[in-house]
Amino acid sequence: MPESTSTELYDGLSTRPATFTWLSPAQLEVHAGKETYTWNVLDKQFHWDSGEHHLRLSHGTRTLIVKDATAQRLMVAHLKQYSRRRRTGGVAPILFSRAAFLFLVILGGLVAAYIWLMPIIAEQLALRLPRSVDDQLGEASFNAMAASMAFDTTRSAAMQRFGDALEISKDHVLKYHVVNDAQVNAFAMPGGHIVVYTGLLDELDTPQELAGLLAHEGTHVQERHSTRSMVRQFASSFFLALVVGDVGALGEIAANKGDELRGLGYSRDLEKAADDIGMQRMHANGVDPRGMIDLLEELKGAHGSTAEPPAFLSSHPLTDDRIANATARASTLGVPAEANARIDSLFAALRK
Ligand SMILES: [Zn+2]
Repeated sequence: MPESTSTELYDGLSTRPATFTWLSPAQLEVHAGKETYTWNVLDKQFHWDSGEHHLRLSHGTRTLIVKDATAQRLMVAHLKQYSRRRRTGGVAPILFSRAAFLFLVILGGLVAAYIWLMPIIAEQLALRLPRSVDDQLGEASFNAMAASMAFDTTRSAAMQRFGDALEISKDHVLKYHVVNDAQVNAFAMPGGHIVVYTGLLDELDTPQELAGLLAHEGTHVQERHSTRSMVRQFASSFFLALVVGDVGALGEIAANKGDELRGLGYSRDLEKAADDIGMQRMHANGVDPRGMIDLLEELKGAHGSTAEPPAFLSSHPLTDDRIANATARASTLGVPAEANARIDSLFAALRK
């Protein structure tokens, strides 16, 4: 099949006019300038690929580019018979793995966005909603978990009187609940429900410590930490409702989360903020802010014998940091000029 047609040879650097001749069905002689190459189409180094308007044959680093349409058709028919080393066969795995790699990169990005970005966006969206949403969220989730809590109504009423003697939140009505539970725990729900377990309450020795606890939890409410934490923790559930601002749906989701909301965690910064602002509130209400230090010390000691730290502290393993921070804050604030005269008797009424 001796045949010669106008074509080009590319050697990796430049393209030269070339011709070729078939010496045998498997042997192709390529002429470019004064050079002649003999390619065996059965060689491992030989590849070819063709498309609608191109035919390329390559052997090692050299590539023959056939431009004439008729020549292309004849060559392809011949090569299909004698050589199976189409480039597509050699190239595909590389293309595939590159595509797979890109796919994985994009997928990884989406997963990262889902895990890290969505909670941040959810939090920002929640903060743009009016505070009445906090109330609705808190009410829905409190009602959902109330059935599983053993309230002490007498002590709850006494704690309400104690809390009402302090002005902790200017934007929300704080509702205090004492629950019979041995866990050393207390938590605040968005909008104002504050739950204190007897396991924690009975560790407290002074009204200043209780004022510190309520000021800390009340600050989580007032500063919307609880709302932020809730939507962050359940961002995937809340996200759509937050985007469209569907308050009813938000409440339903909060209700469905029920008991999971007991474990709302806060970042170290928010805990520190709750201590700091809480101590300012204590001071403004005539309560010695050093009560916060005593509270932290008390709770730190409360789990001395057990492996588990109290839940109130567990979200922030750096209790010593908080104590140091509270100590510095207390010395800045000083002791209030006028002491709150009511909390002593209110605290006494609350004790067992
Ligand atoms: Zn806290």
